[in-house]
Amino acid sequence: MDYANRMARLRARLKRERVDALVVSHLPNIRYLAGFSGSNGLLAVTADGAGFFSDSRYTSQAAAEVQGARVRIPANGDLLSAAARHIRGARRVGFEAEHLTWGQATRLQTALGKRARLAAARGWTEDLRLVKDAEEIAAIRAAVELAAGVLPGVIARLRPGLRETEVAGRIEFALRRAGGEGTSFETLVASGARAAIVHGKASEKRLAAGDTVIMDYGVWLHGYASDRTRSVLLGGGGRKAKGILRAVRDAHDAAIAAVRPGVSARAVDAAARAVLRAAGMAQWFVHSTGHGLGLEVHEAPRLGQRSRDRLQAGQVITVEPGVYIPGWGGVRWEDVVVVRPGGAEVLAP
Ligand code: ZN
Ligand code: ZN
Repeated sequence: MDYANRMARLRARLKRERVDALVVSHLPNIRYLAGFSGSNGLLAVTADGAGFFSDSRYTSQAAAEVQGARVRIPANGDLLSAAARHIRGARRVGFEAEHLTWGQATRLQTALGKRARLAAARGWTEDLRLVKDAEEIAAIRAAVELAAGVLPGVIARLRPGLRETEVAGRIEFALRRAGGEGTSFETLVASGARAAIVHGKASEKRLAAGDTVIMDYGVWLHGYASDRTRSVLLGGGGRKAKGILRAVRDAHDAAIAAVRPGVSARAVDAAARAVLRAAGMAQWFVHSTGHGLGLEVHEAPRLGQRSRDRLQAGQVITVEPGVYIPGWGGVRWEDVVVVRPGGAEVLAP
């Protein structure tokens, strides 16, 4: 990963915003800027240097992973004070307003002293993460392909009587066995009437003949997430279920066909919604069409009715329309696509 380039672009932002230093606390941002993959750390960036701070569990890992920053492990475990010492003299200090707690910001201010002023920085690193470079896209592709590869084996063994939790467990075991670093979010398996729950956690409910089964799952690989949903009609499904699945898949395809650089994220959402409206199902499509994906499962851009984002080449997004009918069940179909100059490239189609 080109950490030097990322850090240089962040420093340009610091300069534009007239900030002397930025304290980065959000771990995915730290990983993006300096490579650290552990669970506790702080990065302090100035115009000409950077310090990384963590605790003693991560001494060797930080030494191996962190690039472009001097690693410090304060003996007392107080990372905020160590970061404040590192940027001593800075008058305007940016902090990640969406991620640092009030308590942490207060402690940072105390550690910096009265002469320093805190400035709320919102999305400075997230803005850099919006467009993925080739290495990131390769990492996401590998995660998506790994995840896609395990599902046919699970689907082939779906049968009435299996609990949703058992199905989730099989998916998760298969992801691990294939080399996955862990699930990128809690595996969702919802069947029958439970499939009307948009975010249906796997429960002890047993699959029954005629159920629709929604499986939404993801894996981490090299720090990048996958996210994919498939819906299966157990026993082939009746006319109603088939019609709904057809409409959802058509909406998914229409949204993907609308993806290209420069197009508004709202237009992609509208393309999916139009198909479901024509099928008389728009009122049951109760969430947005998709979201960005990368070092986090949900990141910018958002593909919803109120989104103000515009797609750019190199963005990686999900497309995931769904229909959820209370008392009956639901269907969702989700893929990850890369925004390319000529349109969408579906990963693991
Ligand atoms: Zn999903
Ligand atoms: Zn998703």
